[in-house]
Amino acid sequence: MNNKYKILKETFGHDGFRSFQEEVVDTILNKQDVLTILPTGGGKSLCYQLPTLLMSGVTVVISPLIALMQDQVKALNDLDISAEMISSSQSNDENSFTMQKLLNRDLKFIYVAPERFTSNEFVGVLQRVDINYFVIDEAHCVSAWGHEFRAEYRNLDRLKQFFPNTPIAAFTATATKKVQDDICASLNLVNPRLFRAKTVRDNLDIKVEPRIVNGKTQILNFLKEHKGLCGIIYTFTRKEAESTAQFLSESGYSAKAYHAGLSPQIKDEVYEDFVYEKIDIVVATIAFGMGIDKSNIRFVIHTSLPKTLENYYQEIGRAGRDGEMSYVYLLYSKSDEVKRKIQIQEAIDDSYTQTGLEKLEAMYRYCVSNNCRHKLIAKYFEDEIEDCEILCDNCTKGEVEQVDVSVEAQKFLSAVYRSEQRFGTNHIIDILRASKNQKILEFGHDKLSVYGLGVDKSKNEWIAIVDKLIDMQALDLGEFRALKITALGMQILKGKEKLLIDSDKLGIAQKVEQSEE
Ligand code: ADP
Repeated sequence: MNNKYKILKETFGHDGFRSFQEEVVDTILNKQDVLTILPTGGGKSLCYQLPTLLMSGVTVVISPLIALMQDQVKALNDLDISAEMISSSQSNDENSFTMQKLLNRDLKFIYVAPERFTSNEFVGVLQRVDINYFVIDEAHCVSAWGHEFRAEYRNLDRLKQFFPNTPIAAFTATATKKVQDDICASLNLVNPRLFRAKTVRDNLDIKVEPRIVNGKTQILNFLKEHKGLCGIIYTFTRKEAESTAQFLSESGYSAKAYHAGLSPQIKDEVYEDFVYEKIDIVVATIAFGMGIDKSNIRFVIHTSLPKTLENYYQEIGRAGRDGEMSYVYLLYSKSDEVKRKIQIQEAIDDSYTQTGLEKLEAMYRYCVSNNCRHKLIAKYFEDEIEDCEILCDNCTKGEVEQVDVSVEAQKFLSAVYRSEQRFGTNHIIDILRASKNQKILEFGHDKLSVYGLGVDKSKNEWIAIVDKLIDMQALDLGEFRALKITALGMQILKGKEKLLIDSDKLGIAQKVEQSEE
């Protein structure tokens, strides 16, 4: 038997390669640079671990998180493969000991954080050993266009400078084409081979709904429907993680909270309870993320709008890594968007604010869309796939009663038109609902003929109508999210096209409104 199949079976215990794995392994064995984009659960570790076992030197793996490194080192040691990590969490003595092992050629793998490459001493040590290739895990962190840019990753442009003959194998689960190009350029990859899996997880059943009140009834209903399964519930705040875990425990579920505010001991305990199935549910902030080594997570719930589709895709990707059917459920509200916006504006400097807001907008548009969820995600990552037909709420909901809101749409579009297509959704709704706020008065919009024409509809009902107009591209979002009328929008405005909306969308808008009152 060919060596690589033998190692696959005997060391890793797998009968065959998954898609792309063999190609990536071969490329690494051919000493070529490579960028691999495989969804979470696609089996990236095997791609870079297996070739090392057919080579004589050490493989240097650069990874952004200590927890990730620890898991990987432990997994390799469990397979009797020598691997160590050098990080700020080890003592100086431990790190020196590891460096010595490295120089003695006693290691197959060394895991390091990207900031190590700012140290000339460390680079000097590496130059004295036989390196098979570098692995850059979570390579999207190198790109400012990605969702998790890390400045330390920028140092990695030094790799090709100091090690021009050592191949680089970069991996990520999520990258738009722009991020993909940025990774190749930032790492100075030389004629890299690119393996990009289709952005689809065909064992994930996706459902997205507006959150009613605090979403607790919706969560309980979901859990009743998926009895006995284990999963993660992502919340917006630590406090919400705590209160939801408590509420679920009181409702008879075995759930614990996990967030960055807990002590390391408690975090380890919760993680182990989950991995060893002493509890079914972890209610967590995104602190519970990368590196969760549990392949049979059966559901992921989000209780509010994630920051970006990249985050969302990565978080839902933690469900069903073993390939079995799994369920993901997202609850959102317009108010989440407001909270996220504040977070983006506070947290990042100006150059990223605009990107952050655009990404948030795309996340929100995903939620309110009527299109296939899998297709929307794929499209965001610039992939084209067919409608899933069976794996998302939009594809499976069947015939829904339609309400004709053409007259409302005309009123809305007319207000956009009369205010010269320079304003965003909230302002237009304020015009229609006869608001007397300062901005309305300042621009004299209380004098427009459409002023007050929409008082019969609640704010949320108007939002549902606007969301539909944007989703069908009757309206575009311009700079500063000003609404612009498209050719289709003009047809609707002139009464030449109708606007129909799912009755449940309007119904839910009313329910949400009542719950917010
Ligand atoms: P990723 O890093 O891409 O999210 P992992 O490397 O953690 O994925 O692999 C996910 C799961 O798939 C792991 O449990 C791993 O053991 C399993 N796996 C990887 N490759 C194979 C394979 N060829 N056959 C069966 N299982 C595999």
